Amino acid sequence: MLSVQLYDTTLRDGAQREGISFSVVDKLHIAQKLDELGIHFIEGGWPGSNPKDVEFFSKAQSLALSHSKLAAFGSTRRPKAKAETDANLQALANAGVKVVTIVGKSSELQVTQVLETTLDENLSMIADSIGYLKTKGLTVFFDAEHFFDGFKANPSYARRVLEVAAEAGADCLVLCDTNGGALPNEITTAVKAARKLTTVPLGIHAHNDGELAIANTLAAVKAGADQVQGTINGYGERCGNANLCSIIPALKLKMGIDCVTDEQLARLTEVSHYVSEVANLIPDAFLPYVGSSAFSHKAGLHVSGVMKWAESYQHIDPTQVGNLPKVLVSELSGKRNIIYKAKELGLDLPLRGKEAQKLLDQVKLLESRGFQYDNAEASFELLVHRAQPDYQPPFELVDFMVVVEKRRRPPIQESEEALSEAVVKVRVGTEIMHTAAEGNGPVNALDQALRKALLQFYPSLAQVRLVDYKVRILEESIGTESQVRVLIESSDGVNEWRTVGSSTNIIEASWLALADSLEYWLIKQKANK
Ligand SMILES: [Zn+2]
Repeated sequence: MLSVQLYDTTLRDGAQREGISFSVVDKLHIAQKLDELGIHFIEGGWPGSNPKDVEFFSKAQSLALSHSKLAAFGSTRRPKAKAETDANLQALANAGVKVVTIVGKSSELQVTQVLETTLDENLSMIADSIGYLKTKGLTVFFDAEHFFDGFKANPSYARRVLEVAAEAGADCLVLCDTNGGALPNEITTAVKAARKLTTVPLGIHAHNDGELAIANTLAAVKAGADQVQGTINGYGERCGNANLCSIIPALKLKMGIDCVTDEQLARLTEVSHYVSEVANLIPDAFLPYVGSSAFSHKAGLHVSGVMKWAESYQHIDPTQVGNLPKVLVSELSGKRNIIYKAKELGLDLPLRGKEAQKLLDQVKLLESRGFQYDNAEASFELLVHRAQPDYQPPFELVDFMVVVEKRRRPPIQESEEALSEAVVKVRVGTEIMHTAAEGNGPVNALDQALRKALLQFYPSLAQVRLVDYKVRILEESIGTESQVRVLIESSDGVNEWRTVGSSTNIIEASWLALADSLEYWLIKQKANK
């Protein structure tokens, strides 16, 4: 049976993605997560190129990794220099790790045009550098940069590079599609050729410039590669590296290669989201396997299929990778969709056929008015509650008024802001509360006034904060008369929930989303008591 070792380079190649900047602490946290996922090798950085990476390797000594080995990255010695005195190789030898990966050129053109040295000197650089690191007792992986392009242009030189690295004692020859432009059949041919040449394990390092990094990686494994290099979520330079979040489940679930345990695989979605969180990037909902939409069912036909037989519209069981099926509530949805969604939300409400139909009609009506519940589960849950004849809302709006005042004409001085004031009348039980508040904008003033009224009845509401507020114009062509949709995300420090409001009036749309947010939290509190 095939076995494959996983080599993660999120902390080095992944950090090359535009917009990503990991601190040393970020890198330590990610390394810990990768260990939990069962990654065999974690490339921590390039100690010869920047002091942050030197600090990482020194602090990483105290990480209690139970599974992974840390690897340091660097390049072969400089042309016409000695390996023993090369600063970059010294940094690798002193990084405090047992595994190092060094990159060297395997394409003739790259040697003559970019490195500007002779083909023979390049071979000496590779042999000397690997030989030197082996005398330090290290495991040495050799990254054959531009291998596939080099193999296409001058196969005998690309082969020679591998032979030299193997003779010098490399523990793995990693074949790199550095420019990310190779096709799967080209990968297969070149890996098979390398496989014939040597018994030293082979690795694959693919970039995604042709959107084939995953396909190329799997093709390489099929052709005999023993080590797979990639990053979490496919982060990396330009279009990214091969995405381990898709490669790991493909290896394990589809190719039968036991590279991680079932328990480790079930943490995949969590690790993917964790890394995007630390990278300060919004998790991509449409990523295969780990995206929140990877197992969403929107069309009514698909939903009714999935309810009868889970695999009918899913290529794997989402729980295997720690993901969940998600049924989208939308105007395409059928009655079963609504029932399934309510079940998913853990609502033990009697949603018999007739009530579900009523609710569905309501959803369709509201969606035609610009509401959207795909990403506003809390508002949807409220609709389900409101469809119950005995539902008692914790408060009801009687009316509100918002005044925005601007006294002077431009030019405006910095201190002259527009003034916003809101007056709100709400009914709680039999009492009517009438409050007023100012805010730094009309929505904020409304929020303040509503809270002021409700806090007298529900003091714990003080924990609830608004964490995100998004406005979307629905029919752009009619400008300021358009329908607007407001999405609000709220948090009580433990849970987050999203609500939606829609109107041609932005204040009203905001009010609806705001009121839903507080109403949702209050009924949850009541239910938990
Ligand atoms: Zn790379």
